[in-house]
Formats: sequence, structure tokens, C-alpha cells
Amino acid sequence: THVLKIENLHVSVGDKPILRGVNLTINHGETHALMGPNGSGKSTLGLAIMGHPGYEITEGSISLDGEDVLEMEVNERARAGIFMAFQRPMAIPGVKMADFLRHASTNVRRPDRKEGEDLIPMREFRKELKDKMSHLQMDVEFARRYVNDGFSGGEMKRAEILQLAMLQPKFAILDETDSGLDADAVRLASESIADIGHQKMGLLIITHHDKLLEHNPPEFTHVMLGGRLVETGGKELAEELHQHGYERIRNAYPDAE
Ligand code: ADP
Ligand code: MG
Ligand code: MG
Repeated sequence: THVLKIENLHVSVGDKPILRGVNLTINHGETHALMGPNGSGKSTLGLAIMGHPGYEITEGSISLDGEDVLEMEVNERARAGIFMAFQRPMAIPGVKMADFLRHASTNVRRPDRKEGEDLIPMREFRKELKDKMSHLQMDVEFARRYVNDGFSGGEMKRAEILQLAMLQPKFAILDETDSGLDADAVRLASESIADIGHQKMGLLIITHHDKLLEHNPPEFTHVMLGGRLVETGGKELAEELHQHGYERIRNAYPDAE
């Protein structure tokens, strides 16, 4: 079974320390919710795992099945099966969704494939893409558009779920995939993630709302405050924070921020 392990992770942006000793182990098949007030460092954790330049690891380690993730280039991390749906996805003008998804899913599903070897056969790929798009209630025309280019907020988020469904990564980090979606779209996203199957992934869901978790109840909920995970609980902790906010947490850890 696969395991993503983060130990004593310290991350700085510029000269500013943001994460200050994060420990987190995600086993394949587990769903973890990551909560915490704005600016506490949740996105920074995801971006550091993905290898975003500008997020400097000053201490600690990240490993995937015992392999040092920090030694991997960004594309190697993706190939190794780590996926992140970004809070602010990037546009790739000139690259069509379908082409992007065919390359990316081939790379993730066939990690031993050499550069230049065959992609997933077109016919097989097209069928799968069509099925998954229809499941997500996405118009097939969407696949012909450039990645995230001029997408509405809702379209971007849906495109991220489509990527998740097509790539079938080992571990997925969803950074506020529900933000900017209306209630129906969040429900669809929540169901779609459940359909893809938590048991086939390790999931880290960053969210301020309870709807995305509705069909994806977390086994673990972590609360980030001031760049540290100050509390871990079960799904009842997520429920408490959704209902009552972070006041109790802030009072309990007055020195964290
Ligand atoms: P969250 O996702 O929990 O809202 P972030 O990880 O986005 O928090 O941000 C944590 C802190 O790091 C904030 O103070 C934010 O301003 C700072 N930060 C994150 N990314 C950058 C960046 N690229 N440049 C400057 N500051 C950043
Ligand atoms: Mg935020
Ligand atoms: Mg964030």
C-alpha cells in the first residue's frame, strides 16, 4: 500500500517562514480534511508537496513509499502519482484540454513509459473522456478548449475534478475545490470525488465548507494554525469547525499565530 509521509516540514516563502514543523502521514485509501483560518498555510503545504518553485523547504522531509519527494522534479512528482487541484489553477493557452489530459493521464498511469512512447490509444482515451465528462455534466465541447483559458471559476473547478478522474493519481490534494461553486455544483463535485473512489487514492481535502465532505467523510481532520497542525480528530472535528468556526482553536493555542 502507498504512503505519503511529511515529517517536520518547514517551508519559507522569500525569507518568511510559513510552515513551522508539519507532520502528516496519509495512507492510500484514507481521506484527510485540512482546515484552518485563511493564511494559516494550507495551500503552502500543498504547493510544497507539489514542488512549486518559491516555496523553499528549509527543514524536514516528504516521502512517497519511502522515496524522497524533495529530490524529484515537479513533473516527476506528478508522474509518481501526486496530484493537486489548485486553489488558483493556471491557464495553458494553446494546449487543448483533451491533449493535455491524454498526455497527463498516460504519464501518471504508465510511469515506466519512456519519453516518446505511445500515449493511451486515441479511441480508448476518447471514450473514457466522453464518459467521464458526461458524468460530470460537462459539454464535450469543453475538451476542445484551451486548458483553463477563459474558464469561469466553476468551469475551472470542474476541469480539476475531470483531471482527477482521468489521471487516477495515488494521492490527491484538493485545495478549496468547492470555492466559487454554487450548491448544486459542490454536490456534484462531492459525488464525483466519491465516484472516483477514495479507496483508490489518498485524499487531502482543503475546504471551508461541509458540502464537499458530504460524500467524502474524512477519517482524519487536521487543523492548521500559524503553519502547524495544532489538532487532529475525526470527522466530528470538521463538523465542529464548520458549525462554530475557529474561536475555540485560537483560544486553545494563543501562541500559534
Ligand atoms: P491558506 O491556504 O491557509 O489560506 P496560504 O498557504 O495561502 O494560507 O498562505 C500562508 C501564508 O503564507 C500567508 O501569510 C500568505 O500571505 C503567505 N504566502 C503564501 N504564498 C505566498 C507567496 N507566493 N508570496 C508571499 N506570501 C505568500
Ligand atoms: Mg485560503
Ligand atoms: Mg489556501
